[in-house]
Amino acid sequence: MSTPNLLMIPGPIGLSSDVLRALSEPQRGHLDPVFVASYGRALKRLRDVFLAPAGQPFIVSGSGTLAMEMAAANLVQPGDRALVVNSGYFSDRLGQMLELHGAQVTHVRAEPGSVANVEEVERALAAGSFKVLTVTHVDTSTGVLAPVQRLAALAKAHGVLCVVDGVCSVGGETLELDAWGVDVAFTASQKALGAPPGLAVLMASPRALEVWRARTKPVAAMYLDFAQWLPIQQAYEAGTPSYFATPAVNLIMALDVSLGELLAEGMGVRVERHVRLAKAARRAFGALGLTPLPMNEAVMAHTLSAVKYPAGVDASLVKHVAAQGVNIAGGLHPAIKATYFRVGHMGVVSLGTLLETVGALERGLALAGHRFEAGAGVAALQRG
Ligand code: PMP
Repeated sequence: MSTPNLLMIPGPIGLSSDVLRALSEPQRGHLDPVFVASYGRALKRLRDVFLAPAGQPFIVSGSGTLAMEMAAANLVQPGDRALVVNSGYFSDRLGQMLELHGAQVTHVRAEPGSVANVEEVERALAAGSFKVLTVTHVDTSTGVLAPVQRLAALAKAHGVLCVVDGVCSVGGETLELDAWGVDVAFTASQKALGAPPGLAVLMASPRALEVWRARTKPVAAMYLDFAQWLPIQQAYEAGTPSYFATPAVNLIMALDVSLGELLAEGMGVRVERHVRLAKAARRAFGALGLTPLPMNEAVMAHTLSAVKYPAGVDASLVKHVAAQGVNIAGGLHPAIKATYFRVGHMGVVSLGTLLETVGALERGLALAGHRFEAGAGVAALQRG
């Protein structure tokens, strides 16, 4: 018998039955009318998910890293300046990409577990002539949530494009592109959107496309270039497919289904469910004597929790928990990797899956030698 463990890592995440069914459909060609309709619908649905009625969506084969590099490659050209609001591992990655594509990059860095100081960001914006500000909405390496609305407002006030890495937030945290003035946000299919890995998903505002059109130098990579992908997205949305590179037919059909589920739940209700369950998970971890990595409640993400190992417990905890049938993840931020673990709670997460996770965590902690009142974590969840 091979039943996979319950997947409670910060992506990929468990899939709904309808998403799984969409994946197992007979293979269709990329010009098949059923697929064309599905791709077009998925693109339209993204505007409602990102709350960007005038935005231009892109769905491209690749992972979140591709979406990051599409943003970097299309928005900067050699000599441009970029400000990275840096909360850890994935902010560093975006900074490197901006540099590779010719930008001069300035970082405003946060200690692991906190967000960059907004006043410092404001001072940097006032002092420099930046073209782009980037922010990682949820830093998956530390479980920290950045104040995107404030940062986007600051960027706008300084005439700077605001780019949001929403890979670990879109579909699980509040993110309102149009209302907040965010110019580009991107994610990947395997996180809170609830589809399998394999698709980069990006939304560009009209202003971002204007800035891209005003480039004086070409994008130095064909697969990343909006110029290749824009006509394809527009063609599929219009129901008249066109070819640049073979789309991931089955993945896009699965994404269409998962986006339909997301919108049927409603973005507000969905985020509220993530908030409620994240708070319940934190109560349970606290009842087991565990401490969160993020420095305070205001900066804690709702799509995952980063939790410090208690004294005497190390990364072997992750294996002990896996042996109970639940996969959680170890640390990721290079500076503190060995000191904490991460639990993803996004997408199909429910009180039931949290009960199973906390139950397995309790067994794992006991095996690792941590002393606590057995059942305290599960009881805290039950009270929630
Ligand atoms: N940004 C963030 C915030 C992420 O969490 C991740 C993936 N964990 C990425 C970017 C990169 O995405 P991928 O692994 O799909 O390439």
